[in-house]
Amino acid sequence: MSVAQQARVFDLGAKDTRARILHDRRIGLEPAEETLTQNFASSYLARVRKAGLRARVREFTKWQEARLVGADLALWFHDGSGNFAGIYLQAKRLFPDGTYRGLNHGNGRQNATLVSGAGRDGVLAGYAFYNGLDDPEPSRSACGHGIGATDSSGITVASAIALIPHLTGKVPRTQIEQLCSPLSCLVRHAHSTTSGGPGGTGPGGPGAGGAGSDGSGFGGSDPTVTPLGDRGGDGTSPSASHELPVALLQFAEHWSGSEAKVHTVDTLPDYARAIVNSDSDDRQAGERPYAWTDRYRWLPYDSDDVVDDRGDLSLTTTVLMIGPK
Ligand SMILES: [Zn+2]
Repeated sequence: MSVAQQARVFDLGAKDTRARILHDRRIGLEPAEETLTQNFASSYLARVRKAGLRARVREFTKWQEARLVGADLALWFHDGSGNFAGIYLQAKRLFPDGTYRGLNHGNGRQNATLVSGAGRDGVLAGYAFYNGLDDPEPSRSACGHGIGATDSSGITVASAIALIPHLTGKVPRTQIEQLCSPLSCLVRHAHSTTSGGPGGTGPGGPGAGGAGSDGSGFGGSDPTVTPLGDRGGDGTSPSASHELPVALLQFAEHWSGSEAKVHTVDTLPDYARAIVNSDSDDRQAGERPYAWTDRYRWLPYDSDDVVDDRGDLSLTTTVLMIGPK
């Protein structure tokens, strides 16, 4: 699966999300973010697995979300050579009156938790907005790909740091649309560094220089990125899924203040390392989500809080780990 195919999978998920919102609105439903996130994750996983990638998924409880991630969706890409990059996304849906609600959740603590958690874990911090837009919206976009692209904008992303001036209880979408890009832009702006297709191990491949903990470890990668304002770009780079971490971090260059970096297994947050080290792609729902809280040391917690029965907690954070087999 090429990076361009990955972008198309994101666009399909965004289109599905838009259709779901518009359909449900017609029949009088207003699905919550958790529902839309799970629907997106379900079809996304099916598509990337069908394309031959390894896709692992875990779900956090609300308890774990508050302390560990502060997001609805944690997306990790790896390159099959031990390099990882990730993004934490807080989901917000567009209400029928054209506003997003609750960006000030917890008097701003939700945003602060997201930003600080992402900084701690060396990943991007963003919001994922679920939009049921009418043509020809949106009229502005952080990236030219988004302008008038109602389907691709079914899910848009914006930097959690860039949104800090807009953290109010009710924000008109049009007030922040210039900060938002289609979800697919996460991978669409990669500059291809190889021409050999899925091999991905040529000069400039992400594994070539080793991954430095300072994020400078893209050995030989050309840092040139397709300008975000380039509407003409079709994203059809020949690069392979091996370059997904590179693509994400090249996008990150457009999010000022981001502390996203290249990870190795050793620098991953514990929960992500546990996923990588697990041997199954398909852990059954209903299993205890994590057994690693006793190894989780970088935030204080009360051991009495460890959740053994998650039946009384709604699932709110979905973690996706995507890369070559
Ligand atoms: Zn774009």
